[in-house]
Amino acid sequence: RALVSLRGVGKRFANGVTALEGVDLEIRGGELLTLLGPSGCGKSTILRLIAGLDAISSGQLIRRFEDVAAAVGFVFQDPTLMPWGSVFDNVYLPLRLRGQSRRSAALAVSEALELVGLADVKTAYPRELSGGMRMRVSIARALVLRPLLLLMDEPFAALDEISRFQLNDELLRLKEESGATIVFVTHSIYESAYLSTRIAVMGRKPGRITAEIANDAPRD
Ligand code: ADP
Ligand code: ADP
Repeated sequence: RALVSLRGVGKRFANGVTALEGVDLEIRGGELLTLLGPSGCGKSTILRLIAGLDAISSGQLIRRFEDVAAAVGFVFQDPTLMPWGSVFDNVYLPLRLRGQSRRSAALAVSEALELVGLADVKTAYPRELSGGMRMRVSIARALVLRPLLLLMDEPFAALDEISRFQLNDELLRLKEESGATIVFVTHSIYESAYLSTRIAVMGRKPGRITAEIANDAPRD
């Protein structure tokens, strides 16, 4: 059974822009699905609807989990870390918002940092980190509640190519270790071919999914 199903989903914003029309999409447990398409075609809107950050205008969106805030982790292109908090503080934030003490959260924070290879920089501040490391902190923050579903909105688009290649490889490893289902938005054909088990293509005509491609060829 699908983790999330969108059936004939449409989204129209208050300003009259129709961002999505008749979108049918299933997110299946364990997959790494990429949403591939040019800017403005509605990729981010799909993620925001799945995360409950925005409401659908028509159709049906069915989630197989109740507590959306706990089940869904979100990674944005801009890592938006708290500059006054350490790496630990930033990753602890979702647990703090759920009322957990620093002490009882320490293990979960360490495990999340371990997953992104940052166990050694807990006490550093965001300004001391490279763009790639800040992105890793933001991924750890999204993983700290052990989400069923990780939504990533062009997470590596602002990074240099070397960091980006590295993070792509790390993401594949992290997916195996965390067992999370991932939906990854990109406009890079390379990235979608490299990362995903399935690709949903959004075409030039905005708001629609024009093709779904199974991408289960073995990697070396
Ligand atoms: P993508 O992620 O593929 O670049 P988006 O989902 O961000 O595309 O945007 C799809 C369309 O919806 C665009 O035309 C965009 O300008 C419009 N849009 C996105 N968010 C809003 C909003 N809050 N209000 C009005 N229009 C929006
Ligand atoms: P980017 O161009 O990816 O943002 P930076 O130029 O910020 O990278 O950082 C490059 C390298 O220098 C990174 O490995 C980062 O960890 C390290 N670095 C940056 N600032 C400091 C600092 N204040 N102290 C120690 N290392 C730093």
